[in-house]
Amino acid sequence: KLQDPLAPLGGGSQSPIDLPQITVVGSQSSGKSSVLENVVGRDFLPRGTGIVTRRPLVLQLINKRSTNSEKSSKQKQDLLDLNTSENQNDGSVSNQKEDNVDEWGEFLHLPGKKFYNFNEIREEIEAETERTTGNNAGLSPVPINLRIYSPHVLTLTLVDLPGLTKVPVGDQPPDIEKQIKSMILTYISKPNAIILSVNPANADLANSDGLKLAKEVDPEGKRTIGVLTKVDLMDRGTDVVDILAGRVIPLRYGYVPVINRGQKDIENHKTIRAALADEAKFFENHPSYSTKAQYCGTPYLAKKLNVILLSHIRATLPDIRAKIDTALKKYQNELVSLGPETIDSPSSTVLSVITDFCNDYNGVLDGHTKDISSNELSGGARISFVFHEVFKNGVYALDPFDRIKDADIRTIMYNSSGSSPSLFVGTAAFEVLVKQQIKRFEDPSLRCITL
Ligand code: GDP
Ligand code: MG
Repeated sequence: KLQDPLAPLGGGSQSPIDLPQITVVGSQSSGKSSVLENVVGRDFLPRGTGIVTRRPLVLQLINKRSTNSEKSSKQKQDLLDLNTSENQNDGSVSNQKEDNVDEWGEFLHLPGKKFYNFNEIREEIEAETERTTGNNAGLSPVPINLRIYSPHVLTLTLVDLPGLTKVPVGDQPPDIEKQIKSMILTYISKPNAIILSVNPANADLANSDGLKLAKEVDPEGKRTIGVLTKVDLMDRGTDVVDILAGRVIPLRYGYVPVINRGQKDIENHKTIRAALADEAKFFENHPSYSTKAQYCGTPYLAKKLNVILLSHIRATLPDIRAKIDTALKKYQNELVSLGPETIDSPSSTVLSVITDFCNDYNGVLDGHTKDISSNELSGGARISFVFHEVFKNGVYALDPFDRIKDADIRTIMYNSSGSSPSLFVGTAAFEVLVKQQIKRFEDPSLRCITL
């Protein structure tokens, strides 16, 4: 519930509340999307080359037992199982359309609209990403909030972030690495964030970007969970047993090895259900993992994340509640100080405020104010005083002749009449004389305006 109202704040450092949440980090193609899809049990994330995730995705999984009569939904589930197993051979994506009444997605930006078709969820994520980031290169820190209700998920909130890349490709901005890194850091640097660091097992763990970034904000590995993907792609004779045992880079929450679908599996439309079954088989039959197979694989990862997040929420909630209460009180007081609520339309409210202000202003000018002061002049009286006293005195203080001598007048008169003698002051001469005098009104006039 708290995720939704905080979403428009960008989830980053500007968010006033540090919510406990699990944030997925890892380099591009480390398997982040695959892990999320396996945890959900459905295909719904955009795929493609380049940076597909360009806005944070706040994925809220909500375990919802079917409310319909158990029997009828059970039948539907069986039907679905049948359908999905058929899909495997025919390989057409459209078969995934087989909607399930028990499972649906909802976006925060499309309230009330239920997506039963997970392909449409993917399309909506893509469209909504486009909407804020514009062209295909940009990133945006404003998250997309997606809820998935299903009887097959554990209640859990996960934040998917863009993968770390090094070199801009195509029309990506040149500082793409910095942008992604800073977006990830705003999410994982908050102390209540749990970091789900996704690392491919077929590369050296010490080189893992996801783990490196996690170490920056969580040097002791207290709130980082490691996931090892692509265990199936490791060289023969190598395994991740040493990592699991905490002998390489220890993390308090440890590591979970998983196997997602490879690119070939996805092209062949292997279902996640089948992939999970194969994953379980792999760990049970592998000589290195068979003894601890129950601590391997996606189902264990989901359960572990659920337990960690729940206990983390339990630990942090009192603090968050206190923080929200304090903030709420502060803003309620501020609201009260702004005056009573108005129910009219905003424009008429503004209009009436302006009219009231004008009336009050006129009243002040006309001397109709309620509190007439005996200490000092105010309003219209003050204006009158400034004009009739200060300004008048300023003007009277000017002596028109103190800068013009009779000799000057005479010279100007001669100059303006040319060779013919003149008896009276000519217009031209008068203007020259008067303009000089009028100029001297400028100072007292400006002072009057200021006052
Ligand atoms: P992201 O960029 O981190 O989201 O990575 P993706 O989930 O898109 O995975 C990148 C590629 O690695 C895809 O082609 C996946 O099929 C493949 N992949 C991911 N995890 C595994 C795994 O455990 N085993 C195998 N064989 N391939 C995997
Ligand atoms: Mg991805």
